[in-house]
Amino acid sequence: MTMSELHLKDALDTLKTTGVRITPQRHAILEYLIQSMIHPTADDIYKALCDKFPNMSVATVYNNLRVFREVGLVKELNYGDAASRFDFVTGDHYHMICDGCGKIVDFHYPGLNEVEQFASQVTGFQVNSHRLEVYGTCPDCIAVGATKVQ
Ligand SMILES: [Zn+2]
Ligand SMILES: [Zn+2]
Repeated sequence: MTMSELHLKDALDTLKTTGVRITPQRHAILEYLIQSMIHPTADDIYKALCDKFPNMSVATVYNNLRVFREVGLVKELNYGDAASRFDFVTGDHYHMICDGCGKIVDFHYPGLNEVEQFASQVTGFQVNSHRLEVYGTCPDCIAVGATKVQ
């Protein structure tokens, strides 16, 4: 089994144990989320799958994503006014975001537990999570000369 097949199997198991019905659409959306590395928007997913599911709308995709989010399979990433992007949850990782095209690429780095501890100490908060984004220009955008976006 490949890594993405394993992720898909785990995800389907999670749906089963939480009592969420696995429809062909949900299956396809999950599969797409796991295979695409671009952290798609609901619109991206709709465009990729609408040939296969002519009755599907962007709203259906979004509703299914919300179901996945509620059972903890996907994270919804909000960046200002842009459309939410969806990330299949594969453990902690960080994001490199392109200022040119908005592409998000995962990278792994040892957890920032020291930062959490420090933040907790100086503020008295109990830490629940953290998020780190690094911004830059992706190789594709560099290649087409879109380096001076901001
Ligand atoms: Zn880019
Ligand atoms: Zn990610």
